[in-house]
Amino acid sequence: MRTQIATLGEFGLIDRLTKSIRLTNETSLKGVGDDAAVLDLGTKKTLVTTDLLLEGIHFDLTYVPLKHLGYKAAVVNFSDIYAMNGRPQQITVSIAISKRFSVEDLEAFYDGIKFACETYGVDLVGGDTSSSMTGFAISITCIGIADGDKIVYRDGAKPTDLLCVSGDLGAAYMGLQLLVREKKVFNGKQQGEVQPDFAGREYLLERQLKPEARKDIVALFAANDILPTSMIDISDGLSSETLHLCKQSNVGCRIFEDRIPIDYQTAAMAETFNMNVTTAALNGGEDYELLFTVPLQMHEKVSLLNGIHIIGHITKPTFGCNLVTRDSQELKLRAQGWNII
Ligand code: ADP
Ligand code: MG
Repeated sequence: MRTQIATLGEFGLIDRLTKSIRLTNETSLKGVGDDAAVLDLGTKKTLVTTDLLLEGIHFDLTYVPLKHLGYKAAVVNFSDIYAMNGRPQQITVSIAISKRFSVEDLEAFYDGIKFACETYGVDLVGGDTSSSMTGFAISITCIGIADGDKIVYRDGAKPTDLLCVSGDLGAAYMGLQLLVREKKVFNGKQQGEVQPDFAGREYLLERQLKPEARKDIVALFAANDILPTSMIDISDGLSSETLHLCKQSNVGCRIFEDRIPIDYQTAAMAETFNMNVTTAALNGGEDYELLFTVPLQMHEKVSLLNGIHIIGHITKPTFGCNLVTRDSQELKLRAQGWNII
């Protein structure tokens, strides 16, 4: 099936994409259908974050199925709210589309967004729809709530604090390398001649194509009475996010290379590609893990938590931001953001 968007028109399209949406949060009073959504965020503080994704700049539809793109576009916004120790409640989704896309394409994209919303308990409450001359553009705004005294900023890290990270790093980047390699192989051959070889690499692809935001880590903090002193989500690589956090907190840090959590598949893929796996973890990006600091006294409590790794500590600003390598060399951390799918 390939229905031209013109057969439905703008309003028919919006209706088709949004008719199945039900509001689930008490904070959502009115969703799609009026001039504006109505929210009741009560006495809590409101968090607002927005992201713009452009075809050819932030994503490449030759690698990414539209359903995955929808899921990822929503999840990266939720991740920003979790990085403030908040809870995402609503999103609005604005899209610009060219004639290249059919109604079914957009339905697939919205299926991904709706699945992310269901998974994370977020309501889709509005958006905007426009045509585009060329590519696909997506802008998602997410609204979240948090108790005023529980919001965690980037600027609260103090010397001697422990620097911690959730999950593992570098897998999304290695997943991207794998997709790029398979595309090259595919382009060089006749269609049907090659099957992509992803066996044993599923985790890497999942981390690249279907990333998750760490809702569970925010819940873990609450359950264990932990309030990080600072926090940021890792969208551009450990190196760049650590530098942001240290700059805003006016501190330095030491990260120990042998403490950086790396999954087995990430390490194996790096070896196959003859790449340094630490470089992938430091600069790769798109892992959407949380990087945070806690006071030194929390050492025991934090080290007992599953899925949290203490990778270093905060120092005075004059020491700078350094990586202590496996052979005990001390290297300056460098920012090298990445931002492509
Ligand atoms: P307006 O002319 O006031 O911008 P629209 O016709 O664009 O109104 O939108 C009508 C309703 O549909 C609004 O509630 C809006 O939030 C919603 N809406 C429009 N486009 C989208 C979209 N792509 N996804 C979700 N909701 C949308
Ligand atoms: Mg509009």
